[in-house]
Amino acid sequence: SRRIQLSQPVVEMDGDEMTRIIWAKIKERIIFPYVSVDTQYFDLSVTNRDVTKDQVVVHAAEAIRDCHVGIKCATITPDDDRVVEFGLSKQWPSPNGTIRNILGGTVFREPIICQSIPRLVPGWDNPIVIGRHAHGDLYRATDFVTMKTGVLELVFTPDGEGEEPVRMPVYKFKTPGGIGAAMYNTDESIIGFAHACFQYALMKGYPLYLSTKNVNLKNYDGRFKHLFKETYKQYQDEFQKRGLWYEHRLIDDMVAQCLKSTGGFVWACKNYDGDVQSDMVAQGFGSLGLMSSVLVCPDGKTMVTEAAHGTVTRHYREHLKGNSTSTNPIASIFAWTRGLNHRGLLDGNKEVQEFSRRMEKACIDCVNKGNMTKDLACLVHGRQSVKREHYLDTLDFLDAIIAEFSQQE
Ligand code: NAD
Repeated sequence: SRRIQLSQPVVEMDGDEMTRIIWAKIKERIIFPYVSVDTQYFDLSVTNRDVTKDQVVVHAAEAIRDCHVGIKCATITPDDDRVVEFGLSKQWPSPNGTIRNILGGTVFREPIICQSIPRLVPGWDNPIVIGRHAHGDLYRATDFVTMKTGVLELVFTPDGEGEEPVRMPVYKFKTPGGIGAAMYNTDESIIGFAHACFQYALMKGYPLYLSTKNVNLKNYDGRFKHLFKETYKQYQDEFQKRGLWYEHRLIDDMVAQCLKSTGGFVWACKNYDGDVQSDMVAQGFGSLGLMSSVLVCPDGKTMVTEAAHGTVTRHYREHLKGNSTSTNPIASIFAWTRGLNHRGLLDGNKEVQEFSRRMEKACIDCVNKGNMTKDLACLVHGRQSVKREHYLDTLDFLDAIIAEFSQQE
């Protein structure tokens, strides 16, 4: 049958270990038989990053900036053990971090919902999409320990000529020993974050909430609240037209509301809250194999899609021993379908958007009919009671998805 032709390229970034093995199979069986697309290929495996002194990541990011669509496989972020394991010349940074530093933007994590997979929070029928402001705050804080008594002050020295430094008393340590910290953020980064959140909420057709602790950090978190409110003015009409809304919530109220909700919203989180809440939400929805991730850049046009999970090292070691594995490919498939869908949106290609919608539906229907990988079978039957006949290995599962997809035609 005729393949769908895409007129513009996408950037493909290959990765490591089990996800790299599955990546090749997804392309071969799920994507390329149906879609003809020029992929600009970058090998982000840890060995190739070492060979290229990490330049391959920079080149990939630049290519994404030009063509607006990046589709990424999971990659190893080397720790000390990995440096030894692969004989790396350096402990290279996380490729995701490098790409985000070059492109800017906000990462949104979104669960893929299959009705038949029980959720730890049973009420969560719709996705909770978490946008994390991955800039500043605790992650760039300056902190210290003292064993002395003394005075802690915050000093801000303006650049302007002749302007006096502003000194703010923080605390007087009357007993020896204590700790302190200072952190920062910028209007530019917060406004960029706000744009990404408003745009992504519109793209998804979901309302948006921003959570802060502005009753305590009146100036700091108050600034987040203020800048979101100002930025919202550009989007308010569109939100109202679509029956959507934006609201600010105190973080404690938001956590409570989230647990009681049925999902179906975008949650804009400050850096630390996003770190904590995205893992909480991922657990609540069940499996990492059903968690997808997209980087939305401030131009609202450039996007990088990937699975939220890592390279599934444990399965890869089994695979190397020649054992079959039952690794969930769904989030990696969605990296492709969401990336291709975005290409279709940019180019006005309805056919590829329809392909993406149908392939995603085939994955979900397949699971709902009882064909799934072991991670999901464990959620359905319980880790203790799961039996071999309850799940498929990775390749058989891909075949089941194709069978489901073909039936829909
Ligand atoms: P991981 O996500 O690979 O695995 C965590 C746990 O979840 C494991 O028990 C694994 O078996 C299970 N799991 C994850 N995805 C699964 C899937 N698709 N199917 C079935 N089970 C699945 O994380 P990790 O073990 O902490 O890290 C492994 C490697 O991945 C590390 O080198 C790390 O640097 C890298 N990593 C990369 C990314 C990324 O590229 N975005 C994200 C996280 C971790």
